[in-house]
Amino acid sequence: MCGIVGYIGHRQAYDILIKGLKRLEYRGYDSAGIALSDSDYRVYKCKGKVSDLEAQTKDQNINGKIGMGHTRWATHGEPNDSNAHPHKSMNGKFVIIHNGIIENYGKLKQGLEKEGYTFYSETDTEVLANLIEFYYINNRKNGNSFTPEDAVRAALNMVEGAYGLVILCEDNPGQMIAARKGSPLVIGIGKDEYFIASDATPIVEYTNSVIYLNDDDIAVIDDKGLSLKNLKNIPQKPAIHKIDLELSEIEKNGFEHYMLKEIYEQPRAIRDTYRGRLNFESKFLRLGGLHNVFKQLTEANRIIIIACGTSWHAGIVGEYLFEEFTRIPTEVEYASEFRYRNPVINKGDLVIAISQSGETADTLAAIQLAKKAGAIVIGVCNVVGSSIPRETSAGVFTHAGPEIGVASTKAFTAQVTVLTMMAMAIGQANKGLTNQEFTDLIDELYVIPDKIEKILEKSEKIKEIALKIADSTNSLYLGRGYLFPVALEGALKLKEISYIHAEGYPAAEMKHGPIALIDEKMPVIVLATKDHSYDKIVSNIQEVKARKGVIIAIVTEGDTTIKEMADYVIEVPHSDFALAPLLTVIPLQLLSYFIAVERGCNVDQPRNLAKSVTVE
Ligand code: GLU
Repeated sequence: MCGIVGYIGHRQAYDILIKGLKRLEYRGYDSAGIALSDSDYRVYKCKGKVSDLEAQTKDQNINGKIGMGHTRWATHGEPNDSNAHPHKSMNGKFVIIHNGIIENYGKLKQGLEKEGYTFYSETDTEVLANLIEFYYINNRKNGNSFTPEDAVRAALNMVEGAYGLVILCEDNPGQMIAARKGSPLVIGIGKDEYFIASDATPIVEYTNSVIYLNDDDIAVIDDKGLSLKNLKNIPQKPAIHKIDLELSEIEKNGFEHYMLKEIYEQPRAIRDTYRGRLNFESKFLRLGGLHNVFKQLTEANRIIIIACGTSWHAGIVGEYLFEEFTRIPTEVEYASEFRYRNPVINKGDLVIAISQSGETADTLAAIQLAKKAGAIVIGVCNVVGSSIPRETSAGVFTHAGPEIGVASTKAFTAQVTVLTMMAMAIGQANKGLTNQEFTDLIDELYVIPDKIEKILEKSEKIKEIALKIADSTNSLYLGRGYLFPVALEGALKLKEISYIHAEGYPAAEMKHGPIALIDEKMPVIVLATKDHSYDKIVSNIQEVKARKGVIIAIVTEGDTTIKEMADYVIEVPHSDFALAPLLTVIPLQLLSYFIAVERGCNVDQPRNLAKSVTVE
């Protein structure tokens, strides 16, 4: 959460910062601000979007070849002008932007108040700005040898919590300091210029050489270049990576919204995710990223999947797949619960951490806990170079490409694809699957992208249905077996972007409570493709109908039984039960999208949300 961008070099920074902030806006859009430095620094900030900041500043001829920008997802203090970043220290010596939470900010603030510090905002960030300044001013009383970098280091050693920071100091106008713990920062290296950002999207246009800062790193950049040390003042060797990201991947390419573009990218995302790993002709499957630990995986006594949000829903699909294909007991946990509830983790347990961004704070902390307990921890992430792949001993990347829409779509189907392949590979090795079952699954998975293309062709029909139910205030999503997590995901998509209250339930659980809510105004979206519980779900549909609920059923092509009962049906091609989530989730994504557009909601930047949840 929060987007950070910084520039130091030979170009005017303003345009780079504004463009960078627009690329990072999916990380937070409560307020935006920039600080530019020439001989002194100047701060411009306001509540609202980057476009509001741009409108306020674009005619002001803002000069400066050093600068930083921030787009905020508020944690401490409401979204308003004064809580917007950058934050200045009380005496104006320092200005900082921050992604993360300073957990002990209350105590630090009290200490600073005793020293005479006053605060103009409610943020934890301003406390940090003042703490840095406090160390700086106090240590320089005896001479000039205490540098801004020393002050940053001294302050950060007092801080508990997470931060990605960029800092400017009035006394060193040609220098920029960046520091990281918990919240991501990438430094792009150009020719005599450097770019800093929360992720690579603002950087790709200028350079593909990057350094990913590690926890406790402090980078100082000035006309001598870049120096990297840690919190203990020990020099670190920067590892330069090449990023493989095309500009077109982070643009809308003619689609009205990123979310719609990403829904349509799913056939490509799934093909890219299995390409090179699954061979249809030779019926071969190999996940290179698991090679080192594969034997241990096949011998695991237990699998624990940890994730948050949409990734947690993919995790439940994973649980069903692992237990069915490998017969290894599997459980799924919210990362935030797992890390704080003293879970039983045995040496040799397999922990799979799923996160699109690879930066989810709770998932990262859960990984550290599992590692300490001796579990084998593997990651399923979409962003190369992010923290989770670096924290885990093995893993499999999803190749969904950058996901900018805050509501996750292609990352979900790519995660399910990876989990399917993992379960198949382990199942083949430990004989949970017969050879015939394994090759049938390869054949089925291979054609899933073609089937999704067929569903996408029905988008006009899905839009018509969406318009009919766009005024609802509540809705219920029901599914059984593999389609229960899809019901959860469908409900999440709807509430995230259209603000309609939606709940996902296992269809049989409906009778234990939610049925009381059903009346003629309640759309009930039922996942009812042909599988072994088809007859049961047909009965559930009857039960809803008897209470006058409006049924929207997702059915297998050619189904005539449900057509007669449901108000609306959306057909999807037939597939193996275990792969049905990859198909049935598509109409639910489109339904949510069209409903949100009809209600005039900001689809890509829904209120209160942000992508890449780097705070707990
Ligand atoms: N804690 C800071 C604020 O509320 C930064 C928030 C974040 O990174 O999400 O302004």
